Amino acid sequence: MDRRFIPVNIPDVRSEDKENVAKSLEDGWISGEGPFVAEFETKFAELCDRKHGISVTNGTAALELAIQSLNLLPGDEVILPAFTIISCLNEILRVRAKPVFIDADSKTWNMNPELVREAITSRTKAILVVHIYGLPVDMNPIVSLSAEFGIPIVEDAAEAHGQAYFGKPCGSFGMASTFSFYANKNITTGEGGMVLTDDDSLAARYRYLKNLGFRPEERFVNYDLAWNLRLSSLQCALGTPQISRIREIVSKRMALGQAYHQAFSNFRGIKSPLLKMPYADNHFWVYGMVLSDDSDLDSTHIRSALEARGVGTRPFFYPLNRQPLLREIQPEAEAQMPEAEKLYKKGFYIPNGLGMSEVQAEQVVEIVSEVLESNDLR
Ligand SMILES: *Cc1c(COP(=O)(O)O)cnc(C)c1O
Repeated sequence: MDRRFIPVNIPDVRSEDKENVAKSLEDGWISGEGPFVAEFETKFAELCDRKHGISVTNGTAALELAIQSLNLLPGDEVILPAFTIISCLNEILRVRAKPVFIDADSKTWNMNPELVREAITSRTKAILVVHIYGLPVDMNPIVSLSAEFGIPIVEDAAEAHGQAYFGKPCGSFGMASTFSFYANKNITTGEGGMVLTDDDSLAARYRYLKNLGFRPEERFVNYDLAWNLRLSSLQCALGTPQISRIREIVSKRMALGQAYHQAFSNFRGIKSPLLKMPYADNHFWVYGMVLSDDSDLDSTHIRSALEARGVGTRPFFYPLNRQPLLREIQPEAEAQMPEAEKLYKKGFYIPNGLGMSEVQAEQVVEIVSEVLESNDLR
């Protein structure tokens, strides 16, 4: 790879993080238990204003535990956005429940809260909300519906560490919330995740299910199908110092997002992400751009031009309702989600890693501007 290539994500692992990993090693804590795991869980739960945090191997596993605890029966329904990652869908399908997709809002790119009420039926067992790309979902309407119909909320806050909705932390809503600590997330353990809840018995169930269903009384006698989803002490040690830096981490991503916004929001051929909503400033977990409706171009064309010039990109999510894996089991799901479809066709995001230098950020601005201009998007 060209040395000057700027990947979409450059992580920022500091010496304090490395020292804490070394300390876990030196103290002999190398498996998924011990004080480094407990500290990471306690501090992260505190950040999210939650009573319990249960670390797991990744954000997908956290979602699996959360969905698992809904005790879904075949045919039960879960409402979720069409514009999100496959991790949100997997466990719903595994337990033979039915996903009910909600289209995206064209401006926030989040699930459109106005479409949720009409999707509720007598079989709706949960609403899964996902904060997309660093801007929270408008939670108040969802929280009201949840109360009105007695339907629990599961909150996927994997893209919103340190974010808040009207001052209430993302990750503090609903029955359970989930996070990922994948390499590009605001706090990273390389791979990792957490499920959070205020409910003591749910927390106990998550701990039990993540640890092979072992019970202290009769360790090797099992009553339930469970998993081994233990996050290692070394990974927890890597993550803990980042929790103390969360304000700095968020500020860096916001500053980068605002600089990109200043550089690109006047381009006629581009729809830029929102700077803010009344309930939150955009944290720009990633900086997405969407080519405007009147342009014939789709994002693959611009992405390959950028990659050729040394700027890494990623496409937006593929609409979940269109996933080929659904064709057999739920063919009717393919019905149009026009906004999610458009986001997929026209959207992409550009480098904003926490380890990026100012020079690299300037290069990104320069090259993206040139590529947009040469494609008549000025
Ligand atoms: C990253 C992410 C996940 C999955 O996390 P992994 O740790 O990669 O399994 C789930 N949901 C959202 C919204 C994400 O961005």
